[in-house]
Amino acid sequence: MTSKSSQCDVTPVDTPVVIVGAGPVGMFLALDLASKGVRSTVIERNTSHRLYPKGDTHNARTMEHYRRLGLADATRAAGLPPEHSTDVVYLTRLNGYELKRLRMPTGAEKMAEVAAHSVTSQVPEPLHRSNQVHVEKVVFEHLLRTEAVTCRLSTEFLGFEETNDGVTVQVRPAEGGPEETISCRYLVGCDGGRSLVRRQLGITYEGEEQETGFSSGLHPSKYLRIPNLAKNVIREPAWQYWLVRPGRIASLITFDPSEDEFRMTVYAGNADDDDVLRAIVDDFVGEHVDIEILDSQGWVNGLALVADQYKSGRVLICGDAAHLSTPIGGFGMNTGIDDAANLAWKLAATIQGWAGPHLLDSYEAERRPAGERNTQAAITLGRPLQGIPLSEDLEQDTPAGQKAREDAARVLETQRQSYSSLGVQLGVRYEGSPIIWPDGTPAPDDEYDRYVPTARPGARAPHLWLSRTQSLFDVLGPGFTLLRMGGHAPSAAPLVEAARRRGIPLAVVDIELPEARDLYKSDLALIRPDQHVAWRGDELPDVGELLTRVTGGTDISGPVPGRR
Ligand SMILES: Cc1cc2nc3c(=O)[nH]c(=O)nc-3n(C[C@H](O)[C@H](O)[C@H](O)COP(=O)(O)OP(=O)(O)OC[C@H]3O[C@@H](n4cnc5c(N)ncnc54)[C@H](O)[C@@H]3O)c2cc1C
Repeated sequence: MTSKSSQCDVTPVDTPVVIVGAGPVGMFLALDLASKGVRSTVIERNTSHRLYPKGDTHNARTMEHYRRLGLADATRAAGLPPEHSTDVVYLTRLNGYELKRLRMPTGAEKMAEVAAHSVTSQVPEPLHRSNQVHVEKVVFEHLLRTEAVTCRLSTEFLGFEETNDGVTVQVRPAEGGPEETISCRYLVGCDGGRSLVRRQLGITYEGEEQETGFSSGLHPSKYLRIPNLAKNVIREPAWQYWLVRPGRIASLITFDPSEDEFRMTVYAGNADDDDVLRAIVDDFVGEHVDIEILDSQGWVNGLALVADQYKSGRVLICGDAAHLSTPIGGFGMNTGIDDAANLAWKLAATIQGWAGPHLLDSYEAERRPAGERNTQAAITLGRPLQGIPLSEDLEQDTPAGQKAREDAARVLETQRQSYSSLGVQLGVRYEGSPIIWPDGTPAPDDEYDRYVPTARPGARAPHLWLSRTQSLFDVLGPGFTLLRMGGHAPSAAPLVEAARRRGIPLAVVDIELPEARDLYKSDLALIRPDQHVAWRGDELPDVGELLTRVTGGTDISGPVPGRR
């Protein structure tokens, strides 16, 4: 794969893009750039992929992005066995009362549902439960094999300087040693919540830090081995177990069932030292169990923070560097991967010379509202949890105890939405974006739990199955794709010719299925490289104006055609 950057460089660069951080977001960005023929260098202070547990939810949109990179099957094979329960269960103790069980399909059941799809089934890649550790290992190994990516592991990013036509990046070996400079055209900070890139830019987070409630503040997160817990204590397996009692709220998430490994977060109560933690685990289980503490971290909960800027000059931020979310719903990393998918094609277009001057600015215009939406969704979905009625009677075998358990169960049922929030996952729409050509149709409601497919420009392209196994997303090109639907669509030739003259990659895909015309409500639709609809209509508009707008050639403050 050769980079086309040399056509546009004013001074020589070592690499077109430097990415700081090989977390899930930095790795995804590097791989998406590579899929478009753009080289990058990834700077990571650690020697390998993540080793200790973090999040467990790879949502339907993230899995679609992995499918686009050919990684969906490999990431899906990592983690919980397909037949393992993915239920969430709330108990007074593992051997105590079960207050509520949110039943959810296993991985195998979800894939069986996909296999039985109709043409317009909207979820080709269902949400996958697996710890980031397992999935990131697969992605990391792929990263190391990718020729267009240079991984600088055990390397500390120290800072940067922006020049007129590039950025110089200072690094040194993580163990100490001489400093080195790498020059690039663009620098992207995927360096997590404490992002040095963001801090050096002087960009701050704005938003909400919940100050009250059990799920706010710093919480201990423990990686544990509890031998034979599943065999000896657990009555019906689940994926997440919640302990819910007065003065004590904690969760135990299955990390690796074959090794009896779990991640425990203590929400209410202190687990600062190991003896206290052991007592909490015994209390959780309802009897004494031996545990091995494999790792211990803290994390701050109850956040809905979004950076006030995502870009400054040639430097951008992505993922946790740009937003921090409370974990309810599992939106943090997923929002970051969607950021990277939005940014990758814009960087590629800019480096390859087919972007307009405002394309990179549209990254912030589109993704900052998405960051606000998703961080707020997490806060909203988690709010009912603050009101769980935790009566002292919860464990009493009496009518009062029965009533207390029923009262708690009613509130706990509200949490179902946070585990199946398809609207949050697939419903991000780039309303008002300067690179979208709106069609004046009314905006549908944005619902957290329900995804209603719409081909309104700015939305994720509604999905279709073209055959038993071929998804619409499998036939889209790496650049833009013009869909011609219903068998009577006008010729694509004027757009193809205009795109060819400007060097804009454009594929044309004919779909004669009547369902396609019905779903898109138009004969033609222009799909972006990140699978969002850029424009739709029954006839092509002025193709020059259309291409100018969707590639960021229109001044960001200018009027948007069709917007009311
Ligand atoms: C206990 C816990 C549970 C969570 N649960 C969930 C969940 O269920 N669902 C969910 O979506 N999210 C969850 N999250 C959040 C999720 O883990 C993050 O959103 C996600 O990891 C962010 O990815 P990232 O790539 O942006 O940043 P990170 O994963 O933080 O990766 C940043 C990378 O940058 C590297 N780096 C940083 N600074 C430098 C430097 N100066 N030089 C070199 N390298 C550097 C770091 O070593 C790291 O590898 C959880 C987080 C925690 C702590």
